[in-house]
Amino acid sequence: MPLNRRLMKTKAVLFLLLMAGMLVSPTSSAQGRSAASPDSDFESFLLPEIRADHPAIANVDVLLDVGHGGIDSGTVYGDVLEKDINLAIAQKTYETLRKRGYCVLLNRSGDYALSSENLWLRSRSRHVKDLAQRSHLANEVKPKMLLSLHINSARRSGKRGPLIIHQKNEQSKQLAIALQTALNPLYGTTEEPVMMGKKYYILRHTKVPAVIVEMGFLTNAQDRAMLQKQDMQWSIAAKIADGVKQYMSQQQQQQ
Ligand SMILES: [Zn+2]
Repeated sequence: MPLNRRLMKTKAVLFLLLMAGMLVSPTSSAQGRSAASPDSDFESFLLPEIRADHPAIANVDVLLDVGHGGIDSGTVYGDVLEKDINLAIAQKTYETLRKRGYCVLLNRSGDYALSSENLWLRSRSRHVKDLAQRSHLANEVKPKMLLSLHINSARRSGKRGPLIIHQKNEQSKQLAIALQTALNPLYGTTEEPVMMGKKYYILRHTKVPAVIVEMGFLTNAQDRAMLQKQDMQWSIAAKIADGVKQYMSQQQQQQ
């Protein structure tokens, strides 16, 4: 693809990404803008062009990857769909992290598939396009970390609790330990993070420290009830934010 077209498409995607981030939390993104002319500030922020080195996306702390969407429901249990819970908890995590002062982006703010937005990869597979879109966004924006939010399932209904899956690098492993340690007490579990296998496309293709956060099992009655309650979703979001804080301070100490 010619470079110009590619750049334009990159800009278009970054625009969508910013819009997604802003639409999720209009109250927090409105902070600091003049109440008299919110629209003009908004426009000057977005126009004339959005670039990957724009200050607003040059220092992203956390990119939240909201698992599945659109025709891809993820794990299903009766009428409970993984994609809906992923989004509900991702939005709460987004708000929690922003309130705590982090720069956060969300790559999906509604119920749609990211494959339809994929502008990089000409693959016939919708699933591969969807996953490629997620890792390419991360590689373009270069956040300090990518958290991919998902819900687990198992044949054995007794299996429960959070599980963090990490890449084969030390930073991703440290991030996974911080998140697992923060989440375990909420579920009363003692799981340990696991290293990714070959099937984890997003972990293999994302160049920044990335983890998959499995926030419990939809096949377990206790986890299922917990994952659908608003107050518990906020608690999970707070624990994820705690893990992010722990990891960030650990990184600063090591520098
Ligand atoms: Zn999933």
